[in-house]
Amino acid sequence: MNIILLGPPGAGKGTQARALCDEYGLMQLSTGDMLREAKKSQSEIGKRAASIMAKGELVTDDVVIALIANKITEKEDAQGFIFDGFPRTLNQADALEELLLTTGQSLDHVIELFVDDSKLIERIVGRFSCTNCGELYHKLTKPPKDERSCDICGSTESFNFRQDDNEDSLKTRLLAYYRDTSPLIGFYHAKRILRKIDGLGSIDDIQQDIKNLVDPDF
Ligand code: ADP
Ligand code: ZN
Repeated sequence: MNIILLGPPGAGKGTQARALCDEYGLMQLSTGDMLREAKKSQSEIGKRAASIMAKGELVTDDVVIALIANKITEKEDAQGFIFDGFPRTLNQADALEELLLTTGQSLDHVIELFVDDSKLIERIVGRFSCTNCGELYHKLTKPPKDERSCDICGSTESFNFRQDDNEDSLKTRLLAYYRDTSPLIGFYHAKRILRKIDGLGSIDDIQQDIKNLVDPDF
């Protein structure tokens, strides 16, 4: 099963993708995470992407397509993929279709998580993640039970705040979303694989809505 999660920054794609991976044995492919890894390891790609990401602009198609191509060919034991933050342009969507085709796969669902713009800023500004396992938290809506350690892995290493999670960068990211990514909604609607889910509910409710969509007997 291959799923794309589509939605503006802060819609909850990463949170839902992580939970769905556990549930269905899927592999999460987040180009945002891959680019942040590349930045951390100081690779050429990472160095070039860093300033673009900090501003909230899109990294060029060829870079992210190459990142995804590498992962798709090393599928390992996963039952399929959850694409989170990819594709973000029509060009990327075409490339993904090609890549899946050449590996004998196809897309099963494209799930649009829609959330009002006014909510996104609240979500983005308070969020952080565990440096060790990547679990996502929010100051107000999902704080760790003990503020010094991660609920999931117990790490007391540190929590990580993203450099691009500020109001200025979010403005640019939203603009990029509506300009470059939202045309994908029409594109996948025309292919009859688009499903819409209200991203405003609780994490668990949204998770259940997604499960009902992808697996109605669950
Ligand atoms: P969010 O969805 O919260 O904005 P991501 O972690 O998906 O965050 O992406 C962070 C940044 O990484 C983006 O603002 C962009 O600069 C870059 N990026 C991630 N995925 C892509 C992509 N598919 N195409 C171009 N740039 C990307
Ligand atoms: Zn952790």
